[in-house]
Amino acid sequence: MLIVMHRKASRKHIDAVTLAVKKMGLTAKSIPGSQRTAIGVLGNKGYIDDSNIRYLPGVKEVIHVTKPYKMVSRDFHPRETLIKVGDSEIGKGKKPVVIAGPCAVESEDQIVKTAVAVKRMGADLLRGGAFKPRTGPHTFQGLKKEGLILLALAKKETGLPVVTEVMTPENVELVDQYADVLQVGARNMQNFDLLRELGRIKKPVLLKRGMSATIEEFLGAAEYIYAEGNHKVILCERGIRTFETATRYSLDLSVIPLVNELSHLPLIVDPSHATGKRSLVPPMAKAALVAGAHGIMVEVHPEPDKALSDGPQSLTIEEFGKLMEEIKNLISFLGF
Ligand code: PEP
Ligand code: MN
Repeated sequence: MLIVMHRKASRKHIDAVTLAVKKMGLTAKSIPGSQRTAIGVLGNKGYIDDSNIRYLPGVKEVIHVTKPYKMVSRDFHPRETLIKVGDSEIGKGKKPVVIAGPCAVESEDQIVKTAVAVKRMGADLLRGGAFKPRTGPHTFQGLKKEGLILLALAKKETGLPVVTEVMTPENVELVDQYADVLQVGARNMQNFDLLRELGRIKKPVLLKRGMSATIEEFLGAAEYIYAEGNHKVILCERGIRTFETATRYSLDLSVIPLVNELSHLPLIVDPSHATGKRSLVPPMAKAALVAGAHGIMVEVHPEPDKALSDGPQSLTIEEFGKLMEEIKNLISFLGF
């Protein structure tokens, strides 16, 4: 960490900052410049909480060298994290995975029909929400426990591992009994109690990027789960909110190579929630794979026009089949 002092900071100010650093058990090294003094802080093992320093008189700026997401960063862990789910391994160097299924579990017929179809077409995992985070309280909120039971049934029919969302720390235990991967939705990315609870389970967690989260915040959220002891964290880019309203969100594809540089965790992309529009899903799914995503998650519904949530962005089973054909060619072109 580097503490940059104001040009007019006095000796007393510099001494007070030096003392504050020492009180934290760290070493302060004064670096006098022609315009101002900077103080280098040495001896830290991780990110430093600068709240005792940042507002001291004479301090202009505090620059952190160590990121708040040490454990999920490559500095700490240069090897790739590979996460095994069912027959798939998710991560760098492995064949990209395809997670497919409806936005929400609506009925036995709907989820089993979708699961059987996506399995036949080559999907690796089944998705489906039982607990749904909806913008308004008067819309379909999911079948909750009944939805989990139906997902288990669809898994039994097809062998596909199941990805489903958990919204509260209280429900982690319940969802953990049914899910192979527990999803944290975009709206919950900074629900720190939930993240901590998920850090104590053994199953992988699919952490979606908050719609207005920076990469630092995204990786900081992953750090919460990781630091608690669960190292099976899969990141998911699902679009961020920008000024653009023609698409539901803006799919930030540049985070794929960026996160691959910064972190050893696998990253997948959800083009369905990102675009909100069915016709845009296949091209963005393919773009994500070309950019280096370790998988994609797409919404598929047997009758999107009748879907209880996110119909406009859900692919029909036929459209999903066509996408899978195109993806197969692309994946072999990419060398898998
Ligand atoms: C979902 O994947 O079901 C979902 C609600 O997505 P997000 O949290 O990205 O909005
Ligand atoms: Mn959805």
